[in-house]
Amino acid sequence: MKNNKLFQVSTLAAFQNKGYDGQISIKNMLSYGDTGFGTYDKLNGEMIVLDGVAYRAVGDCSVEVADLSDTTPFATLGVLEKSKEQVLEINGDMSQLIANLNKSIDNTENPILSRISGRFEIIEIHGVWAQSQPYQELDKIVSEQSVLVLEKIRGSLVGIFCPDSARGLNVIGWHFHFLSEDKKIGGHVNNLIAASLNIKFKITEKLAIISKND
Ligand SMILES: [Zn+2]
Repeated sequence: MKNNKLFQVSTLAAFQNKGYDGQISIKNMLSYGDTGFGTYDKLNGEMIVLDGVAYRAVGDCSVEVADLSDTTPFATLGVLEKSKEQVLEINGDMSQLIANLNKSIDNTENPILSRISGRFEIIEIHGVWAQSQPYQELDKIVSEQSVLVLEKIRGSLVGIFCPDSARGLNVIGWHFHFLSEDKKIGGHVNNLIAASLNIKFKITEKLAIISKND
């Protein structure tokens, strides 16, 4: 059942070993889920998948809808559509958001897919510009991207939690990407401050790697 798994393209280990070239089309990837994130061929933008649409946030955090024929070297997504919504009080920063998410979901064994929406008092994000050969280390590329700090903005986070058992496969713990409500600004989230947000989440059975030939 596609619905009970969290799917990923490639592995974190391969991606961090400069595996930045696209492997699977966005069209194929979107057949596995409606909510998620990742990046594009040659790191040409941070990816945010919401409501079955893949958005690209380039280095200045401006956003466009990705072509279905584009490809991804690394992405994680699943099906969230039928999850019910609840209010999560935060009154703090990203560490407070994570603490309260962990308290209300109460599961650290399974991969979790979530969408967290509302008004952010402050959110700090970055996009990424496309890279060319010879590729640099991922940490160096990320450290060279400019950071954008937005205030009083509405939008959604895609949040994914991976348990310790996913080490090497994916990012352990919580990882968030942001898309503004007007779908014009987005990126990887470094930090945020929010009062309360609406959350939908799904606890999935396990991580599954999408094969190139599926
Ligand atoms: Zn990210």
